[in-house]
Amino acid sequence: MAGAAVPLGLRRAIALADFTTWKVGGPAQWFGEPDSVEQVMALIQWASHEGLELRVIGAGSNLLVSDAGLEGLTLCQRRLQGAVLDGTSGLVEAQAGEPIPTLARRAARAGLSGLEWSVGIPGTVGGAVVMNAGAQGGCVADSLVSVTVVDPARGTEPFMVEAADLAFAYRHSRLQQEPLVVLSARFQLEPGHDPARVGERTSANLHSRTSTQPYQQPSCGSVFRNPEPRKAGQLIEALGLKGLSIGGAQVSPLHANFIVNTGGATAAQIDQLIAEVQRRVVAAHGIVLHPEVKRLGRFEGLALAA
Ligand SMILES: Cc1cc2nc3c(=O)[nH]c(=O)nc-3n(C[C@H](O)[C@H](O)[C@H](O)COP(=O)(O)OP(=O)(O)OC[C@H]3O[C@@H](n4cnc5c(N)ncnc54)[C@H](O)[C@@H]3O)c2cc1C
Repeated sequence: MAGAAVPLGLRRAIALADFTTWKVGGPAQWFGEPDSVEQVMALIQWASHEGLELRVIGAGSNLLVSDAGLEGLTLCQRRLQGAVLDGTSGLVEAQAGEPIPTLARRAARAGLSGLEWSVGIPGTVGGAVVMNAGAQGGCVADSLVSVTVVDPARGTEPFMVEAADLAFAYRHSRLQQEPLVVLSARFQLEPGHDPARVGERTSANLHSRTSTQPYQQPSCGSVFRNPEPRKAGQLIEALGLKGLSIGGAQVSPLHANFIVNTGGATAAQIDQLIAEVQRRVVAAHGIVLHPEVKRLGRFEGLALAA
């Protein structure tokens, strides 16, 4: 059988450390960064034809990618940008790669309320939907109406899934179990607000985060889910683990639920530190901390639960 045409922009052996906010991760065997839905489809079709495993990433802000890298095709959605905001109805349609902070700022300028909480989250719309990202008491599920997805296993015809069918929970959606590729998302925001006031609330949310979290260092935000009603950061801090290091990976001295790359950290070191924190928290509190961050690729399996 003749091979499928190689889609435009497909690259080989691309260092994924350049595509994750932790700045770690080995090479992707194949790497594509489509900027249109047509290109996404072409890449999915090509991977399927070649029998390659497909992995989708957004801004890589919630990912720990193995030092050995990833086999198959890594499809990075961060260039699939764009959004249409209707200031009258409050309906917003955003492409999967649209940065969440950009969308929050645009919504504020249009007098649309509902995304003020999201401005400090350095992810894409697609990643935020998959993770049900949230902050300051808000989350994606609050205003998401539906997503357009494609199922690489069943062909390349995009279809719509209602938010009600995504099984949203704390930092969880059905999309974490199903290999669907998010192409775009629709949000219903509240129209008719004073843009200046929405902008002020948005900026205040950003400020409160940058003053309490290590925004200047490579990280993936909170490493562990909060074991409600407890806070993971408080449990870790109570054990005096701020500053604990393995190689270049360090429990942030500013916020105990962040692990920062102080320079030259490897994914293996970050993974070992995650496991060490888990061990100490179990020993002291009897609580298993579950990572919020998603691991991609091969690891030694040190962490208690991923
Ligand atoms: C400094 C900092 C602060 C943070 N603060 C917060 C916070 O307050 N609240 C919070 O919830 N998170 C926070 N995060 C974590 C992270 O930003 C969010 O989880 C974000 O939603 C991830 O988006 P992403 O585009 O980077 O996704 P990625 O990290 O690239 O991917 C996350 C998951 O989504 C999947 N995915 C991504 N895009 C698609 C797509 N188009 N289709 C299908 N699957 C896809 C990936 O396969 C992976 O499983 C923070 C991170 C950092 C670095």
